[in-house]
Amino acid sequence: MLDQNDIDAKKDALIRSARRCFDLRLQTNAGGNLSVRLSSAEAIVIKPSGVGFNECTRDNLQIVHLDGQVEPSPFKPSKDLDFHLGLYQIRPDIRAIVHCHSPWATGYASAGLEIPCLTVQTIEKIGRMPLIPLSPNGGPQTEVEISPVFRDPKVVAAVLANHGTIGVGTTLTEAQYLAEIIEETAQIAFVRDTLLSAHGRTAADLPAYGTAKDAKAAMPR
Ligand SMILES: [Zn+2]
Repeated sequence: MLDQNDIDAKKDALIRSARRCFDLRLQTNAGGNLSVRLSSAEAIVIKPSGVGFNECTRDNLQIVHLDGQVEPSPFKPSKDLDFHLGLYQIRPDIRAIVHCHSPWATGYASAGLEIPCLTVQTIEKIGRMPLIPLSPNGGPQTEVEISPVFRDPKVVAAVLANHGTIGVGTTLTEAQYLAEIIEETAQIAFVRDTLLSAHGRTAADLPAYGTAKDAKAAMPR
């Protein structure tokens, strides 16, 4: 049964996360989307189509059941609804999704390049962010392209060519932080790769590195 206190708490968390994405310029205009699972029902709170991240309110956010049934709302469901539902259906550990069209990461993916997990933080927190190409007919990625990548339980972040990024988590804050790390990593990778190429070097010339745990394990006893 839908619980109003649960709905209000999840809507407020989503509004906070959306504003933070907007303030950080991870998402302008009405693109992108974010959603969160309810604790009280097999349903999610999600931003509808045509509403900007900075304009989310308790009144315009939608409730959608995991079977696709949308609770009555004057707004049009998001184009991204299918892939959000698909991810919640295949991964019970996913309780929130933040999908942004953030420019650095999307630029990287649109060049057909997977963003390297090149910082110690990305190695630890993400491991790998797969690049998901456009759908075979040239359209935007749908549940058909996205779900198979996330069937690997280790995948918590992915980048969509010509489209945007996806971060998932057990809370909106967790998913939000990943959306931020993806964008930050794309900027760092761009600076590294531009400088390497200006100096006639490649990533293969750089020292190997890993997590603090790896470094400890490699220490002579
Ligand atoms: Zn999108």
